[in-house]
Amino acid sequence: MVFSTQLKDTNYIITSLHHYIITSLHHSKMNIHIQKRILQSGLGQLQSLQTPYSTIVHWRDFLLKNPDEWQHEDDPYTWLSCVQALLAIHEKNYGIGCILVDPQGEVIIQDHNQSFVPRYRTDMHAEMVVLNIWENMRTAPVAEEDYTLYSSLEPCPMCLTRLITSDIKHIRYVAPDEAGGMVQRLDQLPPIHREFAQRHHIAQVNALPTLMEAATHILHISMDELNNRFR
Ligand SMILES: [Zn+2]
Repeated sequence: MVFSTQLKDTNYIITSLHHYIITSLHHSKMNIHIQKRILQSGLGQLQSLQTPYSTIVHWRDFLLKNPDEWQHEDDPYTWLSCVQALLAIHEKNYGIGCILVDPQGEVIIQDHNQSFVPRYRTDMHAEMVVLNIWENMRTAPVAEEDYTLYSSLEPCPMCLTRLITSDIKHIRYVAPDEAGGMVQRLDQLPPIHREFAQRHHIAQVNALPTLMEAATHILHISMDELNNRFR
């Protein structure tokens, strides 16, 4: 049974890749080789995600099939952020994923929230994890380069404040966070930070509505369970 499920998944991935490569040539301006690498990376991680939890299985299967529907420029990046968010839940962290994309559109970092695993860390939000890796890669900021950070959730005040002081020019988020998101409250930043924010392009992604809704659903799987730990 396990074998047949894995075989089915593998066949699906191969079919999906083939179908996607052909169709995307017609409806996307994005570099096809970059898209293939995003797809291969995400599908590989989804395929290795074996879990008894039906909710995680549901969203894993949703993400496995989703590339067939990609049509917007942010779909591949939004999808990979959601893949990372699901991996976070699998590790019992909050379901938020984040990726960093270089000026050519290549994904150079992908990771996720690490608030509980490997150890309890209040600062290890997905964006902070990615920024830590990014800043450890160099000793000076990059100049005049169009790097883009994608997060599956609207950044909180802590993350947004760090992002607008960083050298990452573009900030894109998938799911809005009405209760804790800072992007929709930029006017409440201190004056110097409002000025910093104006040097960045901050916006919600342009992506499939089903994929954007998935980011919210994936987040709530973990919120409900993890918040109970502190009650
Ligand atoms: Zn945050």
